[in-house]
Amino acid sequence: EGRVELSNKAAAELLSPELNQLPLEEWASRYGITTVDGEPYAASDFPLCRACRGEHVRRVTFISRTSGGTDRYLSASAMPIQTPSGAVTGAAMVIRDVTDEHQYAEMLRHVNAELRRQAEELEAVNRVLREATEAKDQFLAVMSHELRTPINAIMGYTDLLDLEVKGTLNQDQKAMVGRIRETSKHLLNLINEVLDLRKIDAGQMELTFSRVDVGEVVDSAVQQMLPLATSKGLRLTVEPAESGTPVVVSADATRLSQILLNLLSNAVKFTNEGGIRVRYGTGEDRVEIRVKDTGPGIPPSQRELIFEEFYQIESGLSRSSGGTGLGLAIARRIARLMGGDIRVESEYGAGSEFIVNLPLAGIQPGDGPSGKTAPVPAGP
Ligand code: ADP
Repeated sequence: EGRVELSNKAAAELLSPELNQLPLEEWASRYGITTVDGEPYAASDFPLCRACRGEHVRRVTFISRTSGGTDRYLSASAMPIQTPSGAVTGAAMVIRDVTDEHQYAEMLRHVNAELRRQAEELEAVNRVLREATEAKDQFLAVMSHELRTPINAIMGYTDLLDLEVKGTLNQDQKAMVGRIRETSKHLLNLINEVLDLRKIDAGQMELTFSRVDVGEVVDSAVQQMLPLATSKGLRLTVEPAESGTPVVVSADATRLSQILLNLLSNAVKFTNEGGIRVRYGTGEDRVEIRVKDTGPGIPPSQRELIFEEFYQIESGLSRSSGGTGLGLAIARRIARLMGGDIRVESEYGAGSEFIVNLPLAGIQPGDGPSGKTAPVPAGP
């Protein structure tokens, strides 16, 4: 007959205490009931009415707008009450306030939509960045090639001037020619670094592996750096492996030399007092080459950053030493291509020690974990 005979305290709190007196057809207007889409809800569609007609209704959600104007989401399930013979004599309904769940779900939907939008934006930005990187790489490759030719010409003519083929030079002129040669070399080095990095990035760095005597490569690199170190008043010494037997690695000799020259020239460049010591030794399957200086050292927060492209601790116009910030990035990548790695140990303010490790000859790159240490005693 459309009357509620019994309701509990929770139902009275959820809807109203006069629930029992209110005919079902008045519920919609009294409790501001609509569908979740805000459409009117016919009394005959209420879960309780449908259950009275014998239907089993499970979890129907509707909105009930309170007198204060706030929407509550209610979820109702209803079942017919039947006599043993099966005749429906009424229905029972359970209502739950699901406003919180609904709001969470709404929030999640919102967050999801926002995330999707941001992912799309990021993808678009990525695409632009990828294109820009490709364009930059292309530009660098072409530029570097184009620059190398004139610089080689400048260096060639400088040599001719130095040989005095067009007449003798006085002391000042000779000094100037020397400066031109030094600056051109610097520029050529810079271009070669950019080209190297591009080659590594493009997976085009070709390495020629052979059995390389570490002692020989170290001695040759040290000999090359000796004049510069001496001119700065720095000691530059080598401590060979303890055993006295040759230490042989599987590496590309030219590239290993490039790594050592880079570490040595950094050590000389950044050290103003004291000296540089190179040591090497073997472990179980690795060789370690250590280049230790008495320079300014590297703050702990920057010990990984210095291996990133273009990163320099002192940057901008305040820089006291030249450089591009590419040397260590290239050196580490080459070391890794050879199955090894480079790391740095440093006491900030008291010097740095750069450690190159490489697989012993006979061990192919990738056989063992790179970064495994060989037991060269830590320096004083
Ligand atoms: P560059 O020397 O051309 O600046 P690198 O990649 O070789 O580039 O080195 C990156 C930075 O790491 C240097 O600018 C310097 O700040 C720091 N660094 C490298 N070697 C040393 C060192 N031996 N002592 C102190 N700082 C160093």
